[in-house]
Amino acid sequence: MKKHTVLSMLATGAFLLAPTASIYAETNQDKLNSIESQLNGTSQQLDNHKQEKLQIEQDIALLQQKLDELNTAIANTEQELATIEQQIKETEAVIKEKNRRIEYLQVQIEKRQVLIDQRLRTLQEQPRSTLVTELIINSKNITDLLEKMYSVSLILNSDNDILQEQARDKDAVETEQKAVKEQEAALQQQKEMQVQKQQQQAADKQQQEVLMNDMHAKLSQTMEEIESTEETKALLEAQRQATQQLVEADKRAAAQAAAAQAAQAAAAQAQAAEDAKKAAAPSAGASSQPSVAAVNQGGFIKPAAGAFTSGFGGRWGKLHAGVDIAASGTVPVVAAADGVVIRAYASSSYGNVVFISHRINGQTYTTVYAHLSSYSVGTGQTVKQGQQIGIMGNTGDSQGQHLHFELHVGEWNLAKSNAVNPVPYL
Ligand SMILES: [Zn+2]
Repeated sequence: MKKHTVLSMLATGAFLLAPTASIYAETNQDKLNSIESQLNGTSQQLDNHKQEKLQIEQDIALLQQKLDELNTAIANTEQELATIEQQIKETEAVIKEKNRRIEYLQVQIEKRQVLIDQRLRTLQEQPRSTLVTELIINSKNITDLLEKMYSVSLILNSDNDILQEQARDKDAVETEQKAVKEQEAALQQQKEMQVQKQQQQAADKQQQEVLMNDMHAKLSQTMEEIESTEETKALLEAQRQATQQLVEADKRAAAQAAAAQAAQAAAAQAQAAEDAKKAAAPSAGASSQPSVAAVNQGGFIKPAAGAFTSGFGGRWGKLHAGVDIAASGTVPVVAAADGVVIRAYASSSYGNVVFISHRINGQTYTTVYAHLSSYSVGTGQTVKQGQQIGIMGNTGDSQGQHLHFELHVGEWNLAKSNAVNPVPYL
């Protein structure tokens, strides 16, 4: 069981197909024209695939550049975030320090408040008039009085200083607390922004990476298409060369026939001139072009021992263009008829494969032997019916050891339109 995905996919392409079972006798020249037309189509297809590949590679390079830039941006964001976190740590240390100062100031404020309260009580309990009276009474003289009054004024001024100090410290505590809170809030906001940026960048990166994976899948698909198209092109080229040789052989045969006919005509004319009574001998028309047998049953042998495991015809919505013969162990694969190897190579889909061209009763046939473990013949080699060409295997697009065998009445072509069920021919 296997799928010849690549070649059968190509086979569905819109190409000029070789005319088969045509109303006129198809000449080798017609076949050559058809193959050349298919070759042109395949070359065009190959150019398109290569152009497509180039475009994808450019797209990938652009995307890679974007990804690189994004990675740099991600690294920068990470760096910025680390800086902010460091700043937050430093600010926290500053806050601790400031809190200590605030605590100290608050202790000072409390102590001072006790003092202020005491002073206020003293002043309330001792009205100023009493204080002045006492000063006058207790003063020895005017100088003493003035000195005492000055001291009282100092005490009163000192109260004033204490009150101002108290107000200033309270203000300082408030301002510093506010500043510290603002600084902390600003840093937290910066951090949140960076974290958001980081999340956005991570999402962008994921998206770009998905895109990149798609591009690589597309590239590998295009490369596969190029490979199989190149394979098809090489196969068509081999077919073209084989047909070209047939065309040249036809030309030589036609020239020989024409020469023979001319010689015969000259001889007949000479005889007619010599003996007027006798009628000219009828010319034997040279028919170098052999009649094409509509159906040529037989003439081939089964190319390997084993059971038929898959028949010819539609399978999985595609044409299974041959039959599968399976057996275990080392199973020799032989040429189904006398012929010339037109191609023996390793294909990605057919695996190790041998193509043989046969000429039987004026009809060209092409046989295909696929998934061989190895082949022992080379392109251009003449083979006899029953001659070993390889060993049954499991190479290419194949699951399990078997021989995939195709028979084409005429040349192999892209659409495999000449493929027939080989079983009745064996
Ligand atoms: Zn098969």
